[in-house]
Amino acid sequence: MRKLDHQIDELAGLVQRAERMTIFTGAGFSTECGIPDFRSPDGFWTKHRPIEFGEFLSSEETRLDAWRRFFRIHELVQNSRPGRAHMLAAEWIREGRANAIITQNIDGLHFCNGITPDSVIELHGNGTYATCLECGERHELEWVAAVIELSKRPPACQTCGGIVKSATISFGQPMPENELARARSATLDSDLFLAMGSSLQVYPAAGFPVMAKQNGAKLVIVNREPTGLDGLADLVINQEIGETLAALQQKLSRRIS
Ligand code: NAD
Repeated sequence: MRKLDHQIDELAGLVQRAERMTIFTGAGFSTECGIPDFRSPDGFWTKHRPIEFGEFLSSEETRLDAWRRFFRIHELVQNSRPGRAHMLAAEWIREGRANAIITQNIDGLHFCNGITPDSVIELHGNGTYATCLECGERHELEWVAAVIELSKRPPACQTCGGIVKSATISFGQPMPENELARARSATLDSDLFLAMGSSLQVYPAAGFPVMAKQNGAKLVIVNREPTGLDGLADLVINQEIGETLAALQQKLSRRIS
């Protein structure tokens, strides 16, 4: 307990001294909201192997399977609400303490507390809608579900007939260039990089904490388990994110008042 107290003190000091903090989040940032992560013992990967982009393109049968898996996860996402950590991250953006939220999450939960897309960089896309891989047309998930229900086939674009996929980035799918460029620019502008709830195993996303550190920012990792980048960090807190941030917030408000 004393160790955690000391770590929160250290974190509070870093946050107070920072001028441009960058918040980087992974699946662990949303587990408190009821969405399992990938790599924890009860994570998605223990039950479902992800379908890679090439496989998705390869056959209608695989696409149908991918959509069925997607809707099982989507049900959880749809029923979840932003947690206290999402609220605090949003507050830091609004106060101008943080320059951006770079997220690997596809649940859209960072859009809370008045936060607009300008401040959130979704590296792996967004799972609350679908797009056509040919023409980019947006399709709503209700429409996708209805097509599957009626035809027992994966949907084709209403405009061009192309393949429709959730607006998320699968393994093997090219990363969105605009988001990568925005994340790079926020990272290089950062003097405190806070990586939370990520195993930091998925690249290029995990390259951003490395880039921040190499650029002279302080690097803090908050994660239940050790990560591959702990050796690089100025501070590692192996604790629950919600509790850690609630304790931090309390400490900061006591220091300000
Ligand atoms: P990951 O599953 O590889 O790692 C999550 C990490 O968070 C784990 O190391 C775990 O120990 C830690 N963790 C879980 N709950 C925590 C908590 N309450 N407090 C502190 N630590 C906690 O996730 P990743 O690094 O984000 O990479 C997996 C990929 O999976 C990402 O690309 C992401 O797109 C996708 N994904 C997204 C969601 C989502 O949108 N919510 C959910 C599952 C997977």
